[in-house]
Amino acid sequence: GMALRPLPQIGHIFQLTASYKADPFPQKINLGVGAYRDDDNKPWVLPVVKKATNILVNDPAVDHEYLPITGLPQFTSAAAKLILGKDSPAIAEERVSSVQTISGTGANHLGALFLSRFYAFPRDGGREKTVYLSNPTWANHRAIFNNVGIQHVDYQYWDPKTNGLAFKELLDTLNTAPDRSVFLLHPCAHNPTGVDPTQAQWEQISDVLLKKHHYAFLDCAYQGFASGDLDKDAWAVRRFVEKGVPMLVCQSFAKNAGLYGERVGALHIVAPTKEAADKVKSQLSILSRSEISNPPAHGARLVALILNDPALFEQWKDDIRTMANRIIAMRKELHRLLTEELKTPGNWDHIVNQIGMFSFTGINSEASKALTEQAHVYLTTNGRISMAGLNTKNIRYFAENLDKVVRA
Ligand code: PMP
Repeated sequence: GMALRPLPQIGHIFQLTASYKADPFPQKINLGVGAYRDDDNKPWVLPVVKKATNILVNDPAVDHEYLPITGLPQFTSAAAKLILGKDSPAIAEERVSSVQTISGTGANHLGALFLSRFYAFPRDGGREKTVYLSNPTWANHRAIFNNVGIQHVDYQYWDPKTNGLAFKELLDTLNTAPDRSVFLLHPCAHNPTGVDPTQAQWEQISDVLLKKHHYAFLDCAYQGFASGDLDKDAWAVRRFVEKGVPMLVCQSFAKNAGLYGERVGALHIVAPTKEAADKVKSQLSILSRSEISNPPAHGARLVALILNDPALFEQWKDDIRTMANRIIAMRKELHRLLTEELKTPGNWDHIVNQIGMFSFTGINSEASKALTEQAHVYLTTNGRISMAGLNTKNIRYFAENLDKVVRA
């Protein structure tokens, strides 16, 4: 057979889902899911996506030819305006290179691959190409960078004492890293903590990035899904562009359009000049060609329709608010149950202060395991819960059992 070296296990999170599915207990809850669920715990096809799908199905001009290597132009240009703002100076000056990618994961990969080839990493003293990742971060970041020969170091992000941002430590790392280091930042709805810097903190972060000539690798997987407001969730990205921080941004339509399996995303690299942007685009095109040849068409067509049609765009914003508001309502209800009804020991304000799909509860791995083993509540052992797994029918059961393990 093949000469394979010992293979590591894949994702803990996929194992969790399998155990949940196999569990016959009627009140079981899956809080590991990285996807939105409605109040009946069902996946939700956005009404605007259904409408756009019908338009596409009935459009005689739609065929199954290849898209251009860099993607559907009506998609990439509208996607750039969505994240950078329609009046973005960088777009007006034609210095943004946008490429359609295999969702946010593909955008992270292509961004990392591009930097591994073309970025002047600080290499003094035999230093390896390195990216700074938040601790904790999305479980895939490490693998994505390591795959393209970029090592990672962690910067402290979560402060277990406050269940909030370790802001001083973050600034210290920014200040002490060698000039021109690459920092991965989540511009909204940090995964897995749900903790974001305030606008004032983003100002300070971007000031240090500029002073140190660092590069900002912005991974934005939750625009609109976090607060319900597309512009609000893009604030940090747009502010970075305005201030001239060297940067790229990874964009995903998995969460905000519920198009998880369609793999719709984009990478936008903001260059200092149009000439530089043209070169970047040509290199991105060469890299993408060797990996996927042509990106998938269907999801990009759906999103292009929604972004470019004013009525569909308005409806999408309604659908986004439906998702964001349900999640925010679950945060408030969980907070109320714990603090007012159950009087659970400890401070639970972080449940309502955190944003997006995930919440870091602050419970330890024993408590997390006890929830799974005793109450059939499935969550990762770092205490992260997906708020989307909670609904009006199961939230009380969850709160009561969380209360129990906290008191144990
Ligand atoms: N980045 C972050 C921070 C994420 O949380 C996710 C989704 N879990 C992604 C990127 C990529 O997701 P997708 O490839 O489905 O767009």
